[in-house]
Amino acid sequence: MTRYIFVTGGVVSGLGKGVITASIGKILKSRGFSVTAIKIDPYLNYDAGTLRPTEHGEVWVTEDGGEIDQDLGHYERFLDITLSRDHNITSGKIYYSVIEKERRGRYLGQTVQPIPHVTDEIKSWIYRVSKKSACDFTLVEIGGVVGDYENILFLEAARQMRMENPGRVLFVHVAYVPILRSLGEMKTKPVQHSVKELRTIGIQPDFIVARSEGELDDVRRAKISLFTNVEERDIFSAPDLEVVYELPLIFEKMGFGDRILEKFGLKSVKKDLSEWERFVDVLKNSDRVVVVGIVGKYFRTGKYNLPDAYISVIEAVKHAAASLGFRPRFQYINSVDIEDNPKLLDLLADVDCVIIPGGFGATGVEGKMMAIRYARENKIPILGLCYGFQLMVVEFSRNVVGLKGAHTTEVDRNTPHPVITILPEQMKLLRESRYGGTMRLGAHKVIIKEGTLAHKVYGRTEIYERFRHRYEVNPDYVDLLERSGFIFSGMSEDGIKQLGELRQDIHPFFMGSQFHPEFTSRPLKPNPLFRALIEHAVQDG
Ligand code: GLN
Repeated sequence: MTRYIFVTGGVVSGLGKGVITASIGKILKSRGFSVTAIKIDPYLNYDAGTLRPTEHGEVWVTEDGGEIDQDLGHYERFLDITLSRDHNITSGKIYYSVIEKERRGRYLGQTVQPIPHVTDEIKSWIYRVSKKSACDFTLVEIGGVVGDYENILFLEAARQMRMENPGRVLFVHVAYVPILRSLGEMKTKPVQHSVKELRTIGIQPDFIVARSEGELDDVRRAKISLFTNVEERDIFSAPDLEVVYELPLIFEKMGFGDRILEKFGLKSVKKDLSEWERFVDVLKNSDRVVVVGIVGKYFRTGKYNLPDAYISVIEAVKHAAASLGFRPRFQYINSVDIEDNPKLLDLLADVDCVIIPGGFGATGVEGKMMAIRYARENKIPILGLCYGFQLMVVEFSRNVVGLKGAHTTEVDRNTPHPVITILPEQMKLLRESRYGGTMRLGAHKVIIKEGTLAHKVYGRTEIYERFRHRYEVNPDYVDLLERSGFIFSGMSEDGIKQLGELRQDIHPFFMGSQFHPEFTSRPLKPNPLFRALIEHAVQDG
């Protein structure tokens, strides 16, 4: 019988609840239990596909083509599982389904209300996904902060679930414990208040995770316990970490796993985190460092620079580097800034390899192509992902093949050389303004050409990777490009070019993929493309 662990947030958002949820799952999994995880996002968007990356971070793509909050990435990475689009619940999805049912007469005669109709819809969604996943544990992370208007119905549904499943539901409340710089002291009052708020809606947490810059000490632990009715031994500290993958190890050391099982009345089966420990140790302590330049454009929000929009790319680099005994250091370069100040390209002289991640639209594309050109001419190993790959094709067409004004029609509809064009079926969708969830999405088969670098990298002729795009390499230009040394080394069954590389006598590692290899990288199973990039980076560096 499935057990449920709800994770709620207190005081502020952005505490890394996703990593905390994933870490709890990890310690349960290491004891031999099966675990799945659901993320609840209280916003009204149906999914994350149309959210601005600088505001919401990366859009994670599930194998079945869902465009989802990046927390699902943490779950898949930490737990080494594959989740579906249904593992993400938004208010949009819930209301959509309730209103559809109302129109179809499913509630005939009734007044349709937030409670019970919306809460019932939430519960049945959680039960349905749990049943399908058939795991020992379903973790449910409720986004936002307790006290927000928008997540109240989700909390209410969770409260009801505890009643419906006696002894099989626990609540973990993650709250921020600030350290006031002027006092040099850790203050517990905000946690006390957020637990009070939770209790007014009928939820008494079983555990508290105190998120803070530093470690929670015994004095504060006792104080939080006194005010929240949570035993001291059930209050855990989650300090800022340099390597987030360390959190399961910290939780394990503090006995979090044992306490969860005790509360559920379960016995522990086994405990094996040794490989994970080695992985964390390399990332924390290796003295071999590889410098990875990421040339993107979704860094800036207001006055702050955040690499959040590229989180899976960054994590995939960590997995690949660690598997080779290296610790990565990142150099983030904003391609928009390169356009204004080409001298910034000099930063690339000090990196061991470059990644051009995915993206949309015209902003910063010229800067990205300047970086691609630099890497190509200076033989710096480079990996282009999706838009990055397409821009490699454009750059090569312009500067090597000599096709003046070559471009993607995403940016220049009237280019004389449309080397990247819209996929035929996508044209229709855009004309009808059907934007949500309509890209070419999810996992598709890629057939790899034998004898190519890609074949050497993957060691196979058939792979599955995840996609999210509307444009493709224009088949009319393939021959011309190949004559100049560009090799299309992977394609889909219907002929879309999915992988491209330069002949190795021209460049040691110049590779691009139409897919996003970052979504299938796991801490202990790095994606071959990232691994190959790092291998070349440390060889040539
Ligand atoms: N904008 C490009 C396309 O739609 C690339 C998308 C991406 O990088 N995910 O094809």
